[in-house]
Amino acid sequence: MTEVLVLVDHAGGEIRKSTLEMLTMARRLGTPSAVYCGAITDAAKARLAEFGAHTVYVADAPEFEQLLVVPKADVLTQLAKQTQPAAVFVAGDGESREIAARLAVRLGAGVITDVVDVDADGTVSKNAFAATYSVTAKFASGTPVISIKGNGVVPEAAPAQPNVVNVTPEFSDLSRVPRVTAVEPRAKSGRPELTQADIVVSGGRGTGGDFTVIEHLADALGAAVGASRAAVDSGWYPHTNQVGQTGKTVSPQLYVANGISGAIQHRAGMQTSKMIVAVNSDPEAPIFEIADFGLVGDLHKVLPDLTGEVQRRKG
Ligand code: FAD
Repeated sequence: MTEVLVLVDHAGGEIRKSTLEMLTMARRLGTPSAVYCGAITDAAKARLAEFGAHTVYVADAPEFEQLLVVPKADVLTQLAKQTQPAAVFVAGDGESREIAARLAVRLGAGVITDVVDVDADGTVSKNAFAATYSVTAKFASGTPVISIKGNGVVPEAAPAQPNVVNVTPEFSDLSRVPRVTAVEPRAKSGRPELTQADIVVSGGRGTGGDFTVIEHLADALGAAVGASRAAVDSGWYPHTNQVGQTGKTVSPQLYVANGISGAIQHRAGMQTSKMIVAVNSDPEAPIFEIADFGLVGDLHKVLPDLTGEVQRRKG
C-alpha cells in the first residue's frame, strides 16, 4: 500500500492528540508513515507505533527549534519527493497550515485545509462559511496536501512495529527565515488544551463575568474552559479560550454551553461537538436548537449543583 506521510504534531516530544487523529485517518488512504522533526524519545516512538505508524522518519537538527516553519516544510518536501505518497497530512494549527502551503507550492500540488473527514477514495470533507455548508472535494492531480482539523475523528489504536528511518535533512537557503529569539511558556492552568480536550465547558455573557462556576465544573469533568466572544470582549476570559468563527474550533465529545445564546459565529466553532448541553435562563435561546440536552435556569444556581453531582458520582 502507498504511504501516507503524517507530520507529527508534538509539544516538546509529547505526541499531541492531533497526530493520533491524523494516523487514524491516514489508514483509510494507505500505510501511515510518521515524520518526526526533532530528537525523538522511546515513549514518542511507542505512541506512534500504537496508533499505526509503519515507518517513523526522524529528522533531528537544531534548525527545527531555531527557525520557524521552513525547515519542516523542507523535510516534508524531501520525503514527499522520495516516497511519492498517497497524501501528506499536517495538523490544523496555523504553523502546520503554513507548512502545508509551502509544501504544496514546492510539489506543484493542491492543498485543502480544515479537513474533517477523508474517504478511502480520497474524497475529503470540510465545513465552509461558518459551518453553514459542508463541502466535499477531491484532488484532481498531484500529491494531496491535507491539513486536518482537530477532533474530526476519534483516535483508534492499530498497533504496528515501525521501521525507524533516520533522515538527513536537506535544507533550503535558511538565511532569510525568521529566527526564534525566545520561547516563553504561558502560565499553565493544568487543564487540557482547548482544541485537544474531550470535554469543553464554556461561559458567555450570562456568567456576568464570574467564571468560577464554569471553572469548577470544568475541573470536575477534567475539561477545558471555553468562552464566547462577548465574554472575551468584556475582558472576562482570555482570547486564547474564545470558541467560534474568530476564535478556536472545537469538536469535543461533550460541549457544555453556559449563558451563551448560540449566535451563528459561536456555533461555527462548536456545532460539530458530539454532544451539546446548554444551560440558559431563556427557554427561547437559539443554542437550544442544536443542544442534545438543555437546562433552563440560572447558571449560577444550576452549575454548582451539576458540579456537586459530578464529584459525588466520581466518588
Ligand atoms: P449573548 O448573545 O448576550 O447571550 C447571553 C446568553 O446568556 C443569553 O442567551 C441569556 O439568556 C443567557 N443568560 C443570561 N443570564 C443568564 C444566567 N444567569 N444563567 C443562564 N443563562 C443566562 N462570538 C463567539 O462566541 N465567537 C466568535 O468567534 C465570534 N466571532 C464573531 C465574528 C464576527 C465577524 C461577528 C460579527 C461576531 C462574532 N461573534 C462571535 C459574536 C456573536 O455574534 C455573539 O455576539 C456572541 O457569540 C454572543 O455571546 P454570548 O452568547 O455570550 O452573549
